[in-house]
Amino acid sequence: EVRVRFAPSPTGNLHVGGARTALFNYLYAKSLGGKFILRIEDTDLERSTKESEEAVIRDLQWLGLEWDEGPDKEGECGPYRQSERTHIYQAYVEKLLKTGHVYRCFCTDEELEAMREEAKSKNMPPRYMGKWGSASQAEIDAELEKGTPFTYRFRVPQEGSVTIHDLIRGEVSWKKDTLGDFVVLRSNGQPVYNFCVAVDDATMKISHVIRAEEHLPNTLRQALIYNALGFSMPQFGHVSLILAPDRSKLSKRHGATSVGQFREMGYLAPAMVNYLALLGWNDGSEDEIFTIEQIIEKFSIDRITKSGAIFDQTKLGWMNGQHLRLMPTEDVATMFREQWLKAGIVSESVSGSFIDVAVELLKNGTELVADSENHLLSILHYPLNETLTSSEVKDVVDDNISEVADAIVSAYDNGELQAAIEGGHDTWSKWIKAMGKAFKRKGKRLFMPVRVLLTGSMKGPEVGAVLDLVREGETTGSVTEKAG
Ligand code: GLU
Repeated sequence: EVRVRFAPSPTGNLHVGGARTALFNYLYAKSLGGKFILRIEDTDLERSTKESEEAVIRDLQWLGLEWDEGPDKEGECGPYRQSERTHIYQAYVEKLLKTGHVYRCFCTDEELEAMREEAKSKNMPPRYMGKWGSASQAEIDAELEKGTPFTYRFRVPQEGSVTIHDLIRGEVSWKKDTLGDFVVLRSNGQPVYNFCVAVDDATMKISHVIRAEEHLPNTLRQALIYNALGFSMPQFGHVSLILAPDRSKLSKRHGATSVGQFREMGYLAPAMVNYLALLGWNDGSEDEIFTIEQIIEKFSIDRITKSGAIFDQTKLGWMNGQHLRLMPTEDVATMFREQWLKAGIVSESVSGSFIDVAVELLKNGTELVADSENHLLSILHYPLNETLTSSEVKDVVDDNISEVADAIVSAYDNGELQAAIEGGHDTWSKWIKAMGKAFKRKGKRLFMPVRVLLTGSMKGPEVGAVLDLVREGETTGSVTEKAG
């Protein structure tokens, strides 16, 4: 059975890297009918906070990555918070003590410090060189008698190597003698991180450990613990880093990096999921826009790339626009309406048809819901008071429509154009049609000079529709002064 886990340390916000790890695990589980487990790694009592745990949970839920077992969803392998599993770690330490894989170490801090210094002076990596790994029972009993505090140390076999077949990186090996005996349980009864992870992955029956590359060095210790406990190893897959566009490690100085920040900026969860999935994975085609269901269907771990993936907010914005256009129009209308109300551009009594027309006009050119605010303002400020001269219009517009541009500019100068606009939909239609007939033009070649004259831009929604919207806003009292 496929059982994967996402194991955040609740010491901050959920970052895009963590979210992508969670997503890959989720996708792997869902694509193979397995289970996705959430485990909170709060052994670092000083840095872990309840608020952070709640924030991580909220962000995962927002992304739609529901877990099958987790802190609020007890299953048979709980509890799912490391701080509630101390008794389990202690029991396994006792077990390893009996089998000799772990021993009690009575060294004082001073002794340990002296060993570190000695190693340093010999240019050797710091490692435990004390006597307790080979102490006699009598020596141990004497210290226990005295009540000397002790830690439990894992006895690292000094021969051979550990090899894993990483699902993403291929074969990775470590020589065991690169590691000294390490502490698994502190003298205050607190277990040490790598021990917890190995015990948890084993007892939670995790079949595949998919996590960030930065955890690769931990795998050696965890593998040794697995072996000592007699559990068979899970398969590992270490996902590469997420990089900024300048190829350095993505960090705060590059802008937003946490999922919560993107949510607050108004990015859509399906777009975020889509974008995160493509950070190091693709389906083998050029396709990029997928729903999560489609990604589940296509997902395969062999298509996760080894190289670092670049996080590009511009691309995410583009993708957000694509997902906006995949949404039912009513839903987009609800979001836009809320945004415009909040911005004070439309009134509480805004008419449904105003919203519908505006959404229809703006949906295609909008990436983020928040941007619809400025887009709406710019078309409501239409027609502009400040006008361009005929030659300026001609500069912007293609030369071969200069003739019609001349006519339109002079219609503006003598007020005919304004009268046509103010006369209403039918008056306007008649006027522009007559213009078209006179100059034998239609479509873009007719409307472009009008658009440029009124907005100064060659881009934007259809002129007639914008004029309809402006009128609709005025007659229904849908727009506020701010927009006028
Ligand atoms: N708690 C670790 C982290 O948040 C993850 C450990 C793991 O996946 O093994 O980075």
